[in-house]
Amino acid sequence: MSYLAKNYNRKKIAFKHGKGSYLFSTDGKKYLDMLSGIAVNSLGHAHPKLVKTIRDQSKKLWHVSNAFEIPEGEKLAKKLCQKSFADYVIFQNSGAEATEAAIKVARRYFYSIGKPNKTRILCIKNSFHGRTLATIFASGSKKMTEGFGYVGGFDHFDFGDHKSLKKKINKNTAAIMVETVLGEGGIKVIPDWCLKELRKLCDKKKILLILDEVQCGVGRSGDFFAFEKSKVKPDIVPIAKGIGGGFPIGAVLMNKKVASGMTPGTHGSTFGGNPLAMAVGNTVMDIVSTKKFLNNVKKSSKFFFSKLNKLKEKYPSIIKEIRGRGLLIGIQLYTDQTKFIKKLMDNKLLTIRAAENVVRILPPLNVKIKEIDLALKIIDKVCSEIT
Ligand SMILES: *Cc1c(COP(=O)(O)O)cnc(C)c1O
Repeated sequence: MSYLAKNYNRKKIAFKHGKGSYLFSTDGKKYLDMLSGIAVNSLGHAHPKLVKTIRDQSKKLWHVSNAFEIPEGEKLAKKLCQKSFADYVIFQNSGAEATEAAIKVARRYFYSIGKPNKTRILCIKNSFHGRTLATIFASGSKKMTEGFGYVGGFDHFDFGDHKSLKKKINKNTAAIMVETVLGEGGIKVIPDWCLKELRKLCDKKKILLILDEVQCGVGRSGDFFAFEKSKVKPDIVPIAKGIGGGFPIGAVLMNKKVASGMTPGTHGSTFGGNPLAMAVGNTVMDIVSTKKFLNNVKKSSKFFFSKLNKLKEKYPSIIKEIRGRGLLIGIQLYTDQTKFIKKLMDNKLLTIRAAENVVRILPPLNVKIKEIDLALKIIDKVCSEIT
């Protein structure tokens, strides 16, 4: 009998410990982890530098209020800004908090310049921005909002429907918010030319561009931010998942213009940006943001994609498409992926679903080529057995 509420459909498996790309279950089995707690364990499990950081910081200071200065947070914010378009950062504890703060920043900016009616946020239908009351309505998914009343302020357009996107912008629109790569929605990449057009459109309509990089950011795409390659400068970017490497951290990055609305008292968080979290964030950042590390992500990605595309040729009736960027990979099947994922798990490979029959593969960013090889062997085997 479990005392945990039934809001998850959990697999009957628990883990005792992890090391690198592997997880060890309580019943003594070894699994290759290619979901990384959903893009969270960016450096795999029990990375020695993260273990040391937690150990050292835990002896010094865990938590102080944001009523005081927090040097560890200053340091991480500076690194994030020096890596990007951003001038300022607010730290949070999760992705949903970061996206919700992004919405607040956008609305507050227009309020502060005397346009209090500009509050509406335009999002992609069936995207994912988190599970708070506001963010489920941002996602525009019936499944996630059903039974939870109503939170207004969001409009939606279909992925790739540029006509509808333009039509949905009105005088009360404050921002367009999209994931640079849609994660839960099925690993759908927004092409660079589209990001550029989005930026142009926002400039023309004098509205803000929010790029949700909670899943695709922090090195996952092979660049530190997924939007970098397009040369587009967003106004606001929420991040989370990968930046903590397993420690709950969220952050919203913003430019100077929009930050001007965030005056003292407009937003806050008890835990957000505490010294323990920031110490971990700094260590993850120092490792993940180097050119050498990111080049290696690109190399692993190239290898993975080329081999997966070969498997697609080998099993043309099973695999419809290989999608994604960097180490955010989707294998789209022709039919429901549940059985496929179960079979992968039976063969000791952990993956997770995404929409549109996609098997999502999110290895640690420091995954080894031989581990990718092992994953490919298992995927090949399952494809051969499932026909
Ligand atoms: C996971 C995710 C979120 C929500 O993050 P939580 O930490 O689960 O609150 C928001 N946006 C995107 C794109 C995500 O993938």
